[in-house]
Amino acid sequence: GDMRDKNLLRQLFSEFEIDAVIHFAGLKSVGESVNNPIKYWEFNLGSTLCLMKIMQKFCCNCLVFSSSATIYDSSINKRIEENSKIKPINSYGNTKLAIETLIKDIFLSSKSLWKMANLRYFNPIGAHESGLIGEDPKGEPNNIFPLILRVASKKINKLEIFGNDWPTHDGTGIRDYIHVEDLAEGHIKALDFLFKNQSQIINLNLGTGLGTSVLELIRTFEKVTNIEIPFAYSPRRIGDSPSVVADNSLAKEILGWNPKKNIADMCNDGWKWQSYNPNGY
Ligand code: UDP
Repeated sequence: GDMRDKNLLRQLFSEFEIDAVIHFAGLKSVGESVNNPIKYWEFNLGSTLCLMKIMQKFCCNCLVFSSSATIYDSSINKRIEENSKIKPINSYGNTKLAIETLIKDIFLSSKSLWKMANLRYFNPIGAHESGLIGEDPKGEPNNIFPLILRVASKKINKLEIFGNDWPTHDGTGIRDYIHVEDLAEGHIKALDFLFKNQSQIINLNLGTGLGTSVLELIRTFEKVTNIEIPFAYSPRRIGDSPSVVADNSLAKEILGWNPKKNIADMCNDGWKWQSYNPNGY
């Protein structure tokens, strides 16, 4: 269903006894958000407003929200902490920050009632290790991992690497890639934490704390799958940063969460999904 559909949400909350909500729904393409900000504000904010109204009405006061590391000032040259400078630079990031602000306002209106967690994702990639659940992008993806999968399955000829002149050890951009299963576990642990503790609002980074360059990601993918990924260098992409890596110590400490999967696992599981499901679902 569409989360902006008030009647549908009312029906669901009436039919089931809902104790908590993990709010994943939203549009997530940075490029599209820049070209179509109204769509992003309408969908991302509209759906959240609708959800919050219904949660309030049905006294469901526990929320885990999928936020994003794009809300941070990515020019920071060290690991990003939860209290690092906030400065989104595109409509997608602006909507994530606006939702965090909305959630905080709701929390402040009844501090003793709400239990809320904003989980700020770094770069989730991979798929479920069974190869049965994975990402099936609609249209042309613009994130690196689905593009690597397209090159590996010969749907496109080569990968474009945006810049080989970044101030990093091999000149390509560094990101904090996290396996989707570790990310999912972070949500379960956040929910447990909220259930067991007093009302509060908390912001948590979900990343591994480890940086991987584009070239390292490609080389690991090639090694794990034995498939060559042809690439060519292009100029830097506008709005990109050299390095975005999480300080994840708060999530580790508070949730007892520890991401277990490495880049090889991410590549292996992502490729398994792609080869089992060459045309998506
Ligand atoms: N990237 C690239 N070629 C692509 C897509 C991405 O070289 O076709 C690089 C990008 O410059 C960044 C990294 O891969 O260094 C991750 O980009 P992505 O869009 O997946 O996530 P972002 O960190 O921008 O949210």
